[in-house]
Amino acid sequence: MTLRLRLTLWYSGILSAIIVGVGIVIYTMVATALTRQIDLSLQSSAHEIVRAISPTGGSVSLLVNTLPNLQRFGTPSVYAQIWLPDGKLALKSELLLIADPLDPAALKAGKAALSEVTIQSYHLRVFTQPVTTVDGNVMAYVQTAALLHTVDTTLDTLLVVLAGSAIVAVALATIIGWLISRRALAPLETITQTALQITRADDLSRRIPMREVPQDEVGRLAMAFNESLGRLERLFNMQRRFLADVSHELRTPLTTIRANVDLVRRLGGADPVSLGAIQSEAERMSRLVGDLLVLAQADAGTLPLARDPVEMDTLLLEVLSEAQVLAGGVKLGLGELDQALVTGDRDRLKQILLNLVSNALKFTPEGGRVTMGLSLVDNWVRITVSDTGAGIPPEELRRIFDRFYRVDKARSRAMGGAGLGLSIAQRIAQLHGGRIEAASTGVDGGGTTFSVWLPLAKPRSAREES
Ligand code: ADP
Repeated sequence: MTLRLRLTLWYSGILSAIIVGVGIVIYTMVATALTRQIDLSLQSSAHEIVRAISPTGGSVSLLVNTLPNLQRFGTPSVYAQIWLPDGKLALKSELLLIADPLDPAALKAGKAALSEVTIQSYHLRVFTQPVTTVDGNVMAYVQTAALLHTVDTTLDTLLVVLAGSAIVAVALATIIGWLISRRALAPLETITQTALQITRADDLSRRIPMREVPQDEVGRLAMAFNESLGRLERLFNMQRRFLADVSHELRTPLTTIRANVDLVRRLGGADPVSLGAIQSEAERMSRLVGDLLVLAQADAGTLPLARDPVEMDTLLLEVLSEAQVLAGGVKLGLGELDQALVTGDRDRLKQILLNLVSNALKFTPEGGRVTMGLSLVDNWVRITVSDTGAGIPPEELRRIFDRFYRVDKARSRAMGGAGLGLSIAQRIAQLHGGRIEAASTGVDGGGTTFSVWLPLAKPRSAREES
């Protein structure tokens, strides 16, 4: 569930609870007030009637003879009945059509009671007041009643108004809350998108545009994020510069060492084995320093890259023939070969292919096979280098392009590899707008296939049209 949805749900949920609570209080208060008014008038009418019949001295027969005229009591909307203890109706208001007891239960209770009854679809409020003689016997019951029609209608209307306004209020609040939270959270979305772009493009120089974020908590977050990015970028640049400087500075002394080894060898007198060791290590170090410099330059965007048309099929054949000397007991052959033209740096592209082929030959035992091929897939050239070698375990596969990463450290090092070849190849492919992928069964002898994807100089659709 998104933060926006959660906020809106909480907001409208709490609002609904408050509105319902307030609604219940209002409804109850109005209902009580209205009923109380009716009760008061029922009670006062009943008491007036009781007062009028009390002086009969407590005798029922006397009472029957001196019954008051009920029309004189209470308001026109109050009806009354007088019941004798034996259950006979002594008198009722003329307007009242009901001749049954309004509240039969109260007639037996012997004490004053208020109740609500429904008789013949009339909803009534009834008050029952017993009339007692001086010695405490019930001489009669006075029941006064009023129609609750007006109260009911008022309460129904109130209920409709309350429920209607509650629904409208909650709906409006939900919609407004949804819109407000979108507005409030939109800058977060901008920040997220920028952060994702930075990650995807591997570009630390990007920043969250501050004019698109408000100067509030979100703005502060964006600012903090930008500051962190700035610091990261500075650190990265420093590290790159350091690497570039170090590799650059190391080249000169290494060249001097190699030149002097040559000189000492020519002059003679030194131990040739030691000299050989110094020379091979110095060469290895030169290679390593050269590789580091290429990577540092590629990272810094200062690697000189030509943008020439390169016939990849010709280049592939050239690499194939050059690599034959490395093949030894491995059969190095050609698979499918299409024609393809890409734009780029011929030497660097050749470096990629040579690297892949020499790796394949390195990791394929005698009697195995290494095949190179070139095919066109949509607007891409796909150059494959497949071998029948040891293969690469799946968990290592995505790491082999990392710098200094070697699957079998001891073996790779013994073969002279520092684990930089593939990272350089990948960087060069990326600088050409392409990429390198590796696929392997991970089974010994199952082999590995490296695919170099490069964009065609001229998209196929455009070529077909021309
Ligand atoms: P190195 O210079 O050490 O060969 P790379 O970057 O070229 O470094 O390769 C990284 C690692 O990937 C190698 O050490 C090796 O373990 C593995 N690898 C590369 N190519 C192959 C292959 N064709 N078959 C098996 N493993 C390979």
